Amino acid sequence: MLPIANNSLSSMTLPIDINGVKGFLDEQEGAALYHHAVAAAKMGPILEVGSYCGKSSVYLGTACKLQQNILFAVDHHRGSEEHQVGEEYHDPDLFDARFSKMDSFPQFRETLARANLEDVVVPIVASSALAARHWSTPLALVFIDGGHSMEAALTDYRSWAGHVMRGGLLVIHDVFPNPADGGRPPHEIWKLAQQSGLFEALPLVKSLGILRRL
Ligand code: SAH
Ligand code: MG
Repeated sequence: MLPIANNSLSSMTLPIDINGVKGFLDEQEGAALYHHAVAAAKMGPILEVGSYCGKSSVYLGTACKLQQNILFAVDHHRGSEEHQVGEEYHDPDLFDARFSKMDSFPQFRETLARANLEDVVVPIVASSALAARHWSTPLALVFIDGGHSMEAALTDYRSWAGHVMRGGLLVIHDVFPNPADGGRPPHEIWKLAQQSGLFEALPLVKSLGILRRL
């Protein structure tokens, strides 16, 4: 895999101002995700776990659109542990008082509509495990950015890694080799993927772990 040239990085054009979308993806990580997705979407569809308000979906969906492919966007939209009331990343704008639950789906839909990606992205409003239960479509790129508990991360890895086609990519967000920088589960599944012998790791882009299926 050749390193991404600077000129190809600057060639990314997103349909909306990405800073106006709530979310947790750094711009450099987003650009790397986009460029890998452009290459991957030539081979097959892409799936993400953890869409939230659609920031990563705009990067991935725009790449899919370029290749006339599609993005499956899996999220129950009820938030991870850290998004719940009283937790560090709770956002009251995303709280549905009728059900006393988090709901990022309205914002996600709005992002898709604004970005003109409704014909590209297939929202799957379900837990990762439920969405995976009858899954059999080979995927060219799987992006894991869901729950950060060990159980959630392991479920995501076990549910989706096996669907990445040969030559495809498994991309994991929030991989922190230094424990001082963040929680362990995404790093643990990044290690597991390498230990499986099925994936080789490319260099990290900030906290983005990129693994190629052998
Ligand atoms: N990719 C987003 C950030 C995702 S935040 C961005 O670019 O901004 C994590 C998301 O994962 C939350 O929206 C949460 O609802 C979702 N999530 C957490 N655990 C999940 C699970 N088990 N199944 C499906 N979605 C889950
Ligand atoms: Mg993340």
